[in-house]
Amino acid sequence: MLHDQVLLTLPAWIADEIGPDAVYPDDLAKMTLAVRLSARNVREGTGGPFGAALFTEAGRLLGVGVNRVLAQTCSLAHAEMMAFATAQQNLRQFRLNQTGERIVLASSSQPCAMCYGASFWAGIDAVLIGARADDVQSLAGFDEGPLPADWLGEWQKRGIAVRRDILREDACAVLQTYGESGHVY
Ligand SMILES: [Zn+2]
Repeated sequence: MLHDQVLLTLPAWIADEIGPDAVYPDDLAKMTLAVRLSARNVREGTGGPFGAALFTEAGRLLGVGVNRVLAQTCSLAHAEMMAFATAQQNLRQFRLNQTGERIVLASSSQPCAMCYGASFWAGIDAVLIGARADDVQSLAGFDEGPLPADWLGEWQKRGIAVRRDILREDACAVLQTYGESGHVY
């Protein structure tokens, strides 16, 4: 019989990385969590070298994600998609900013074509990016897919602010560790 449902889960260790009352007030704090999740995902062997998190602008954590593609046999399970989905379930609304609260996505690496597209539907107001797509390709060997030529401008046109290269070196170190490990997961 064909499957009629999909269940996506985050690794059990996620709870260790998130303090129940933790607040992430600025870009650095938000990206620190995203990169820390990516590093732990590699260390634990629970997925690829990517982490993401969603916050209110003031720093309340709404959802987190790590890459779970191999673990879950599901190409949807990129870190950003997992973060969108968990935040949407937590808030019980698919458009995260529909109540007027400004929503920030922090991603350890530049979103791929799929996650970039999904970002327009999830209702976000700012994107923080660690490593660049070139870093992902050269250090970890992933082809992130084609983005529109003016991918930054398309976000900005829709009122989504973009800040890049936040903790880029730390994010690249995780990609490099993964790339050098020879593992594929
Ligand atoms: Zn992606």
